[in-house]
Amino acid sequence: MSYVEEVYAGLEAKHAHEPEFLEAAKRVLESIEPVVAANEEKYRSVNLLERLVEPERIITFRVPWVDDAGKPQLNLGYRVQFNSAIGPYKGGLRFHPSVNQSILKFLGFEQIFKNSLTGLPIGGGKGGSDFDPKGKSDAEVMRFCQSFMTELSKYIGANVDVPAGDIGVGGREIGYLYGQYKRITNLYEGVLTGKGLTFGGSLARTEATGYGLVYITDEMVTAAGKSVKDKVVVISGSGNVAQYAAQKMQQLGGRVVTMSDSSGYVYDPDGIKLDIVFDIKQGHRGRISEYADRVPAAEYHAGEKPWGVKCDIALPCATQNEINGEAARTLVANGCWCLAEGANMPSDSDAIDVYEKARVEKGFLFMPAKAANAGGVATSALEMSQNSERLSWTFEEVDSKLHDIMVGIYHKAADAAAKYGHEGDFVVGANIAGFEKVADAMAAQGIV
Ligand code: NDP
Repeated sequence: MSYVEEVYAGLEAKHAHEPEFLEAAKRVLESIEPVVAANEEKYRSVNLLERLVEPERIITFRVPWVDDAGKPQLNLGYRVQFNSAIGPYKGGLRFHPSVNQSILKFLGFEQIFKNSLTGLPIGGGKGGSDFDPKGKSDAEVMRFCQSFMTELSKYIGANVDVPAGDIGVGGREIGYLYGQYKRITNLYEGVLTGKGLTFGGSLARTEATGYGLVYITDEMVTAAGKSVKDKVVVISGSGNVAQYAAQKMQQLGGRVVTMSDSSGYVYDPDGIKLDIVFDIKQGHRGRISEYADRVPAAEYHAGEKPWGVKCDIALPCATQNEINGEAARTLVANGCWCLAEGANMPSDSDAIDVYEKARVEKGFLFMPAKAANAGGVATSALEMSQNSERLSWTFEEVDSKLHDIMVGIYHKAADAAAKYGHEGDFVVGANIAGFEKVADAMAAQGIV
């Protein structure tokens, strides 16, 4: 049994009831096998992998709150402080009924490597609650957030652990959480990111994930001797990531022909008119079908995803598992030669097998989410820097740093893949590059 297999077997025996976490750990461990094999003695001597796969700390707590009818309610709260070798724990808070320890451990584990890849000093963590903000009044959400933060505030801090938003935690929730933290601790510090611009938020954070996705895609395409200019681009989703990926892609000369929501997709052969999408989605939270009502040349396909549309580049920016093996085969058969993941886990494992086969056979370019959508957390770390120096940078300053970070991530992933004999495999490259920095820091800090 290899060291990696040994560690995974131990994990499986200990945490059999955590399938999501086991799956994530298995995938990462398998892809770092080349670097582990090359450094086996060094890593074994300090129990490096055994320590890497166990969170430094998991905090679980009850979150009691009172609903608008005066009835007491109870939810569970969690914070998984996974790894602080390279900086304070950093990762989002998710409020969703599906939240449990296994899912948060899975997300926290992945976050370690994504954060490391950004090159910024941030460790990995994740947290949240099984609370569902959908259908709750503002006052209920506020009371919940205040109760949640009353307990969480004991374990976080600007130099300790800096949570952000995730599913179910947007600007409103971050505002309530921040207010309660300040009230309890009497500290005005950058303890959360994704804050409003009037209380320490960063310019360009809204655009960061979508812009970052296109910056890394452009770098990957250019390194392969091609260009995004005049290429046909299929985008799924029409939320935050999709809107700004489309905007940056158009600025670089790509022709974005689709956008979607959970009801269907629109196809505009002349190129999506983003002012109309912004008006529908940001203006009045409408459905994407409205686009086809307003643009005569566009078609609306109810209940379908856009993967059957012929394209050069695909950017899934909606949700998890939105591309299965069949959709991936259709994309490749129709001539798509590049795919970068804006959403988290948009491709299922069959789809990833299809990309890998296409990569080996014809140089298909695939950039996984861990690297491709790291622009969001990278800009959160830039928000921390601005908070620490009590200054606000201009949009251009933040955007230019984001651009450099994404270009850097591409090269780290490409170089690590090449160094360990997997040239062009950015899944392996991203995991190895993220892992190496954390492993070095852990080894240097002794058995802690
Ligand atoms: P939004 O909620 O703003 O947008 C999500 C989009 O995906 C909407 O158009 C939504 O349509 C669509 N969608 C949701 N569920 C489905 C579904 N089951 N089938 C088809 N379409 C669906 O989210 P974001 O843009 O912020 O996030 C998108 C993805 O990017 C997520 O995976 C997120 O985790 C990831 N991500 C986001 C970051 C960020 O900074 N925002 C950072 C890193 C990753 P509808 O309106 O109909 O629900």
